[in-house]
Parts: sequence; structure tokens; C-alpha cells
Amino acid sequence: MKAGKIISTILLAIVVAAVGFVAGFFINVTLSKPESDTLALGDLSIHFIELGNKYTGDSIYIKAGETDILIDAGSRYDSATAITQYVDQYVTDGKLEYVIATHADQDHISAFVSTASREGVLEHYDVGTIIDFPRTNKTGGDASVIGRYRAARDAAVERGAVHYTALQCFEKTDGASNTFQLADNIEMEILYNKYYTSYSSDENNYSVCMMINQGDNHFLFTGDLEEDGEKALVEYYGDSLPECVLYKAGHHGSATSSTPELMAAIKPQYVVVCCCCGSSEYTDNNLTQFPTQDFINNVAPYTENIYVTSMAVASVPKDEWSSNGQVKSMNGNIVISVSRSVVSVQCSGDNRVLKDTEWFVQNRTWPSNGK
Ligand SMILES: [Zn+2]
Repeated sequence: MKAGKIISTILLAIVVAAVGFVAGFFINVTLSKPESDTLALGDLSIHFIELGNKYTGDSIYIKAGETDILIDAGSRYDSATAITQYVDQYVTDGKLEYVIATHADQDHISAFVSTASREGVLEHYDVGTIIDFPRTNKTGGDASVIGRYRAARDAAVERGAVHYTALQCFEKTDGASNTFQLADNIEMEILYNKYYTSYSSDENNYSVCMMINQGDNHFLFTGDLEEDGEKALVEYYGDSLPECVLYKAGHHGSATSSTPELMAAIKPQYVVVCCCCGSSEYTDNNLTQFPTQDFINNVAPYTENIYVTSMAVASVPKDEWSSNGQVKSMNGNIVISVSRSVVSVQCSGDNRVLKDTEWFVQNRTWPSNGK
């Protein structure tokens, strides 16, 4: 290589490094508190909502252009207040074009239901299309959460909503489609799940699986899908399962989801966990409290951009959680926005990624092969 060519190569490297640095700086400075002005958000924004109580659950609001989508309404009946107050800031016409109920556990469907003192999500909004789980093992009657969810869903259908199961969407039967155009260049795709058609002893495996495709940017939502379901998903799609900008941590960051096989396929850049970090709601075992050490080990090789909605104020024994447990915001309401391929993260609480928090330092280990 001639001297002049070496110098120009060095100059090019400096320019590339400088551009990389400026781009990195820009992404960092976009980490800020949410603006009240919704116009500040990008073409696609995905909001992970705190649920107004101490129980882990999911509720995710998505705005794609002018289309409004809600995935799940956990964690209890009273979460309807937190969810509708949050979503009302963004839904200007009172209509949710799409509602997805991933599976029949209460931490995903309770707040769809109206109670004597509170309007549920399905009653509060005019709903376009409801997509829910084809199967459940739950046998509860009219007064159970599943019974009340079905009644609320059927009432929405009476008022004009269209209802499909994820199986109808995936198989494109009864007028359903597996892809829904949300905005220019943004579509929602209902994915394969082995357990749409086969029995699982674990309710979580019945979860509706969905991907948002924004050009080459992909965003994966698998509800509480467990290990068996994830492996079947990876096998079914093979190499066509794309790398993802965002992965909603399966099953609240449990040890039995976010398997190495799925992570190796999607190589997520951002991962959001809907849970109360370090809560004893389900177990006294620190390492399997959400988000679990196994989850960290599986995700860390691909990204350090892990965000968590809420956290336990203090450690209390499991059998005292319902009476004495308290939660506060961790990252709080988390908004991932993508505009012109620039990803930004805005948190109502702390902006730090999980591994930089005191909770993480005291309770988890970042693996040596982590980013
Ligand atoms: Zn759940």
C-alpha cells in the first residue's frame, strides 16, 4: 500500500470512528424523561406500562403511525385505572384498532374486565379487532377472571369489534389474516406457535406470538411462552427468524423463557422485562425471582440494554407479599421509539440499564461472555 493510500485509509478510519462516536452520543442523549408532547415520539413507539399495584403482569401499548394497539392488560382488575390513564395520553380518538390478549392468566387479562367501581379496558375503548389465545386449560365459570374476560370480549364484539383467535390469524381462516398493515411500512404479523393446536400443561405456552415489522426493524412479543414453545418457534422459522431490535422478555424474565436458542436466533438489541424486580410474589429463592439469573445469562451475550418496569421496595417473605410487599418504579413506564432507524429509550423512572443498578450489583452477576 502506498503512503498516500495509507494516510487516506487512516483518515477514513478516523472519520468512521467520529461518526460512530457522534451516533453513539446521539442515542445516549435521547435517554430522557418522556415528553408530554406525543409528537416528540417516533413513527413507531412501544410503551411498557407500570400496572399500579405490586403484582407482576404485562400491558404494552404500541402506536404505529395513527394505529393504536394494546397487548395484554395485567396484572389485576385495578390495573385498568393505571393502563387507561396512561394510554389515554396517546389515543386521541378513543379507539384501539387492535387488542391482543396473549393468554388466560390473570396477570395478562384482568384489567380488560370492568368491575363495579372501575371501567375495564375493553369497555373504556372502542375496539377494532381482538386477537386472543386459541386454547386454555382454565375451567373457571362466569365469575372467574377467564369467565369475566370472555364476557367483556363478547360484549365488545356486540358493540362492533371483530374477534379472531391467533390460530385463525395464523391459518388465515374465517376472514382472518396473519398480517395487519398498521402504517406505511409497518405491519403486525401473528407468528406460529405449536401450542395454538396442541395441549400444554403450562398455560403460558398458549401465548399469542407476534412480531412488528418496520422495514428491517423487528420487534418480538411472545407473552409468557416457555422453553418448549420457544424451541418450536425457532425450529419452525429456522433462518428466517430475523434479528430483532426489541424482544419483550418472555414470561417476565423467568428462567424457563428467553432460551439460548431463541436469543441466538433473534440477537436482541433491546430487552424489556415487565415485572417487579426482586419481588417474592412467586418465590423466596432470590436467583429465580424475576428477572432471573438464568435470563441474564441468556440475554447478556447479545445486549446490555435491559430495562425493567418496577421493583420491590424491600425483600419480604413470599407468604407476606400480598399483605406487606411494596413496589416502586425501576425504569417505570418504558418507551422504545424508532424514527428514521434511530432507536431511543425514554423512561419515566431511572434511565439506567439493569446491570448498572444497585439491585443488580447486590443480586445478580453479569456473565463473563456478556456485552
Ligand atoms: Zn405472566
